[in-house]
Amino acid sequence: MRYSYSRTDRYRILTCPFCGREPEAPHTLKMNFGEAQGGRCECGAIYVYDETGRSLGDAFMDALALLFDQDYDAALSATEDDYEEETITFDRRLGRFVADSKQMSHASKYLFLRKKEKPA
Ligand SMILES: [Zn+2]
Repeated sequence: MRYSYSRTDRYRILTCPFCGREPEAPHTLKMNFGEAQGGRCECGAIYVYDETGRSLGDAFMDALALLFDQDYDAALSATEDDYEEETITFDRRLGRFVADSKQMSHASKYLFLRKKEKPA
């Protein structure tokens, strides 16, 4: 039996949780301190790929630094009023992306961050 294209495709392609577009494929992002795997989206979001799902704290700091153009002072003083955060999990067993990832601590994760629009 064949499932409809849109139904399956939606979960097989990584899409930005903020705008629904396809971001850049994950690649090595050079940073002042080491490097990270991730990419950018047209809407201004950035994401960091965490293959093991075990170092999400590190991935979060990398993502935050990238979001603020490696201005670590700005990144460290940022609060949840400054950015939005979403995590997408890739379930290897099912071979698809899932939005709710809390239970699967050892699956690959894509941590997305985007700056919030500042009120004028
Ligand atoms: Zn986006």
